[in-house]
Amino acid sequence: MCAAVTAPAASAQTGGSGGGGVYVATPKVAKVTCLRKCATKQRARGGSVLKVVGAELAGVNAVTYLGSYGRGDDTTVKVRAGSDHRLNARVPIGAVTGPLALATASGGRSAPTKPVLILPPLPPEPNAELSPAPGPMVNGAPRLETGTSRTKAFVGARPGVTFSFRLSGASAAALKVELVSAADGAAVKTWTPQEVPPDLVQSISWNGRLGRAAARPGRYSFKLTAASADGSEARSAQTGDTQRDAFDLYDNIFPVRGRHDFGGAGAHFGAGRAGHSHQGQDVMANCGTRMVAARGGRVKFKQYHAAAGNYLVIDGDGIELDYVYMHLDQPSPFSEGDRVYTGQTIGAVGETGNARGCHLHFELWDAPGWYDGGKPFDPFPSLQAWDSWS
Ligand SMILES: [Zn+2]
Repeated sequence: MCAAVTAPAASAQTGGSGGGGVYVATPKVAKVTCLRKCATKQRARGGSVLKVVGAELAGVNAVTYLGSYGRGDDTTVKVRAGSDHRLNARVPIGAVTGPLALATASGGRSAPTKPVLILPPLPPEPNAELSPAPGPMVNGAPRLETGTSRTKAFVGARPGVTFSFRLSGASAAALKVELVSAADGAAVKTWTPQEVPPDLVQSISWNGRLGRAAARPGRYSFKLTAASADGSEARSAQTGDTQRDAFDLYDNIFPVRGRHDFGGAGAHFGAGRAGHSHQGQDVMANCGTRMVAARGGRVKFKQYHAAAGNYLVIDGDGIELDYVYMHLDQPSPFSEGDRVYTGQTIGAVGETGNARGCHLHFELWDAPGWYDGGKPFDPFPSLQAWDSWS
């Protein structure tokens, strides 16, 4: 068996037209439950351990949490199967609700599992006001106070997350602020502020982007390092601290900001309609309920249509998706070409056009976009995930 798996390509040729070739075990998953540090047996959170039961699991060395749409929120952890039928997998901080996929060292890959419900990790410690930093400090180094404006942030929202700090005692010859991802401990961004006199507050803001790209969703924290001229150093937090000056970054916010539900079967993507099938997911809510941009971007269309009513199409910022909102009670205050930030109010739930009852009809379209060569796909798993953290 081993020989077959590691055999060079020549062996596949030897198999010839017989259809032989390299045997690659395909792991199969029967059931996933939460084993340790769970919210409940059926609901995990960042830091939980999952139990995966199935077949052909012995060669599995990686589990990928596929999250909602796209690769941007995928996270992968290394695993070692306990047996052919069972393995345990850690849920990384940053993993979100969605299917799992198992991979073996020899290239086998399972089908995606049913979605696993993953709640957000325990929230970061709120620290909106400056407070003395608990990190390590060498004698002679400045004393540090730090604060972070929010514990939940969304890519492309405004304002972003603000980290503030103040030094006292010694002055610092070198300052460094790192933004550290809790998923792997890596600094994804570094600032080197100019030296400031002691006792003055200095701030840094971040909008969830790394250059032009959106940062991966997940837990991040700010870490300040201040060194005095003689090299004595103070740090704002211990290495591996995922609570201090930390916040959770999400890629989308749930667009309906009030009581809502997802309706019956007819509200789902693909449900039958006269002459076509339903291209989105309906979100039932009272007329007048505030509606926000799930993801910021550029307004592509703002129009009225006999069926769609008042509708708005936003070309998502830093993501190859168009976001479509229909039946707004009034025309959106935004115009075509306008820039919209994640979480910004774009209108209110209504029943304009061909709508039975107040609801948001929501669509997601892949590239190149809405009636522009793209295709609509079922937005329900994404909406569910956004709803869980918004
Ligand atoms: Zn609809």
